Amino acid sequence: MGKIILTGDRPTGRLHVGHYVGSLRERVRLQNSGEFEKIFIMIADAQALTDNAEHPEKVRENIVEVALDYMSCGLDPEKSVIFIQSMVPELTELSFYFMNLVTVSRLQRNPTVKSEIQMRNFEASIPVGFFTYPISQTSDITAFKATTVPVGEDQAPMLEQAREIVHKFNTVYGETLVMPDILLPQNKACLRLPGIDGKAKMSKSLGNCIYLADSQAEVKKKVMSMFTDPGHLRVEDPGKVEGNPVFIYLEAFSTPEHFARYLPEYAGLEELKAHYTRGGLGDVKVKKFLNKVLEEQLSPIRERRKELEKDIPYVYEVLKKGCDIARDTAAQTLSEVRRAMKINYFEDQSLIAEQVKKYQ
Ligand code: ATP
Ligand code: MG
Repeated sequence: MGKIILTGDRPTGRLHVGHYVGSLRERVRLQNSGEFEKIFIMIADAQALTDNAEHPEKVRENIVEVALDYMSCGLDPEKSVIFIQSMVPELTELSFYFMNLVTVSRLQRNPTVKSEIQMRNFEASIPVGFFTYPISQTSDITAFKATTVPVGEDQAPMLEQAREIVHKFNTVYGETLVMPDILLPQNKACLRLPGIDGKAKMSKSLGNCIYLADSQAEVKKKVMSMFTDPGHLRVEDPGKVEGNPVFIYLEAFSTPEHFARYLPEYAGLEELKAHYTRGGLGDVKVKKFLNKVLEEQLSPIRERRKELEKDIPYVYEVLKKGCDIARDTAAQTLSEVRRAMKINYFEDQSLIAEQVKKYQ
C-alpha cells in the first residue's frame, strides 16, 4: 500500500510563520514530491471547540481563513484533500471506541496536554473534551489510514499516544489499523518556532505571531519590535545568539542565496552569528535583513491569498468536495473497525448464525 498523509490545524486563528516552517512548507513539498498516494489536510474545528466551546463563531470564521492560508501556501485541492473535521462524524464514533483503550492517568501524563492546560488556566476545570483530544487526534490519523503525520515537535506526544492506541486496538481486535509515523522538520529551528516576544512557542493563543496574511508593513513592524538578547544594549556589546528569536528565525528562513542578495558582506549565517557574538553588530541591521528574508517568502503567499479572497464561494466548494471524499474514506475504515470489534450486527451473517445456534 502507498504512503498516506494526514495532518491539520485548529481553526483558532489565521496561520502564522511557525505553522509555515513547522509543517505547512513541508506539506507542500511532500504534496509535490509525488511520493504519497493520498494526502488529507484537516481543519480541526471539533478539536478547536474543545477549548473554545463558548465561541463557535470564532471557529466558524477561521475555517475559511485557514483554508485561504493553505491554498496561498501552495496546497493544491487537486492533489490534497482539504476537509473539515466535524463534517466527518465517523471520527467521533471512532474516538468513542478508542476511549475504552486509554486510561485517565495515561492522558494525564501527556506533556503537551499538561502545558496546554497550564497555558489556558484550565487546572481547576478542564473540559473533558479538551482532556481527551489526543484520543480524537488518534481517530483523525487512523480513520484515513495515515502512514505519515508531518507536524511540529509539540505534536510528538500525540503521535506516541496514537501509536499506543493502534497497537492496543490491533492486539485486542486483530490487525486493522495502520501504525502512523511522525515526520518532523529536518531543520531544528523549525521544530518549535518561538514567538516574537521570545516565548518558547509562536502560538495563535499567545498573540505573539507573524501571520502569513500580515501586510508588508505589519511584518516589518513586528520584526523591528522583536525580542532579542536583552544583554545586547549597545552595538559594540557582545550578543547571544542561542535562544535569540531573531537568529532562530534566520535559521528557519534564510538561505545562502539570501545572504548573497541582501547581505553579501557575510558569507552566511555562521559569519553573521560570529560577528554578533563578538560584538559590533547591531540588532537593527540583523532585523532589517530578517525582514527582507521573510518578505521574499511571504509576498508571493500574500499575493495568492489576495486572489483567492476574491472568490470565497470557490473556497467553500473546495472544502465541500474535500469533506465528501474524507467522509467516504473514513466510513470505509469505520466499517472495518466495526467488523473487527464484531459490532457490525446486520452485516455479518455469522454473528446472526451464532445466536440462532444458541437458541436451537
Ligand atoms: P493553538 O494556540 O490554538 O493551539 P497553534 O498556533 O498551536 O494554535 P495548531 O493548530 O495547534 O496551532 O498547530 C498546527 C500545526 O502547526 C501543528 O503541526 C503544530 O505542531 C505546528 N505548529 C504550531 N505552532 C508552531 C510553532 N511555533 N513552530 C513550529 N510548528 C508549530
Ligand atoms: Mg496548538
